[in-house]
Amino acid sequence: MAERKNFEMTQADHDKIVEACKSVPMIALQCGCPPSQQENANNAWSKLGLRMGFKSMTVQPDPYGPLRFTAEAVEKHAGEFHWSCSLDIDCPNCEDSFDLLGTDDYGDLLGDTQVCEAKKGIETFCPKCEFEFTFDIGGGM
Ligand SMILES: [Zn+2]
Repeated sequence: MAERKNFEMTQADHDKIVEACKSVPMIALQCGCPPSQQENANNAWSKLGLRMGFKSMTVQPDPYGPLRFTAEAVEKHAGEFHWSCSLDIDCPNCEDSFDLLGTDDYGDLLGDTQVCEAKKGIETFCPKCEFEFTFDIGGGM
């Protein structure tokens, strides 16, 4: 059984939820209001839940005023994110750009160079026009 905790939102958060769910009682997730409005309200609650760390579907009003409520606490887990790595190189010959990390031999070229590490004088060739050239990698993000 998950732990139930007291939460208190800010007036601004409260306004957002009221805005999202105008004519609907503030905490009434199972009410029979139109789906779009219900969705808006649920969205507003789930965003707030993510930020404050509670399960939005477990929210219950607290007698001490509209900003207070209780809910089951959860980790502030924002889901799964994916790496996006590329090293875009402009070919000096044909001016086409290619992603070095998308080529087969980037492992040989970069060796044990770490992500964001600077490196000078790497030899490569353009996969499009086969022009051979060297380039440097600047460090940092
Ligand atoms: Zn080229």
